[in-house]
Amino acid sequence: HHLNIVEGKMQYLYDEQGKRYLDCFGGIVTVSCGHCHPDIVKAVQEQTKLLQHTTTIYLHHAIVEFAEALASKMPGNLKVVYFVNSGTEANELAMLMARLYSGNLGMVALRNGYHGGSAGTIGLTGLQTWKYPIPQGEIHHVMNPDPYRGAFGSDAAAYAREVEEHINFGSSGRVGGFIAETFQGVGGTVELAPGYLKSVYDTVRKAGGVCIADEVQSGFGRTGSNYWGFQTQDVIPDIVTMAKGIGNGLPLGAVVTTPEIASVMAQKIQFNTFGGNPVCSAGGLAVLKVLDKEKRQAHCADIGAHLVERLKSLQQKHEIIGDVRGRGLMLGVELVTDRTEKTPAKAETAVLFEKLKDLGVLVGKGGLHGNVFRIKPPMCFSKDDADFLVDAMDYAMSGF
Ligand code: PMP
Repeated sequence: HHLNIVEGKMQYLYDEQGKRYLDCFGGIVTVSCGHCHPDIVKAVQEQTKLLQHTTTIYLHHAIVEFAEALASKMPGNLKVVYFVNSGTEANELAMLMARLYSGNLGMVALRNGYHGGSAGTIGLTGLQTWKYPIPQGEIHHVMNPDPYRGAFGSDAAAYAREVEEHINFGSSGRVGGFIAETFQGVGGTVELAPGYLKSVYDTVRKAGGVCIADEVQSGFGRTGSNYWGFQTQDVIPDIVTMAKGIGNGLPLGAVVTTPEIASVMAQKIQFNTFGGNPVCSAGGLAVLKVLDKEKRQAHCADIGAHLVERLKSLQQKHEIIGDVRGRGLMLGVELVTDRTEKTPAKAETAVLFEKLKDLGVLVGKGGLHGNVFRIKPPMCFSKDDADFLVDAMDYAMSGF
């Protein structure tokens, strides 16, 4: 049966019967600080009482303060911020900028990536599950640098060569841009082979393209080691897109780019009715402050290390666990019926998912075959919560 969740408090959710669930998925990596975090509720309430909305043709201090705070988190010349209402809108705008700036239409994206479901971004998405059959433009889906399932294992150089060949043999030799999540979310928490983005960014820029990092899931310190996912690959993108965790549940997205790239937007009018409205901006600014004040990046590193250690020992015990991966509180547990063949344990994952729910633990499911547990809780997740999750998984898997 379907859950009917009526209340949330930090990392816990409650159904209409009052049953408590440990939220290990945070509304799809969206509730970054915790459900109904008091500081964010307060910021939203205060702004709501004062002024909810006018139009972005008027100035408002909330949008400026939020944009400045966000830009201050960015390296290099990534200083211009656009606010939208979702990840899809952010990627749509990023793709538009890449095409205008480069003068090329073709886009390069990864197989197994997810970037949205609108007419434009559905083409970037590289999972058939989400791709309605409509014309999707010139999109080149290159091999996924997936260390567990990818054809070249962790050999980043081999995957990067394939991108170069794809551009040379499958396009005019020029491309508009390249987009990748730095940790694939919907695709099942896949951390790209180390060194991959550095070589591919070089290749794409040589072909005239703009490099876009989709940080919708991996940003804001969730990986523990870095504030942004792209920093784990030691690159600076030309455009960064964000959504989900940026708003802790508010409908909010952002695109950050360089003044040079942003200047292409001046040829027409770029307008978004609700993008950067006072309420979402006040909430978004409160999110950034909470993450700093509560030192959430360091916390994600601590709890994530503990969780990975416990999940790896669970893997020793249960044959069904084929892979444990990720960083910080951006983790994936891939289930297989045969470790050598890596046969996706699709049906088993669905059964375990329900068992965990009955035990009061909500995880996410991902990957093309739905055989990966995605563990991406609100960042206030504690060590006790981590132990409870692993104990529940152990108990549920013991029946197999
Ligand atoms: N990019 C990534 C990496 C995502 O995970 C998602 C949503 N699952 C999107 C973009 C699209 O975001 P939205 O659903 O807010 O449009």
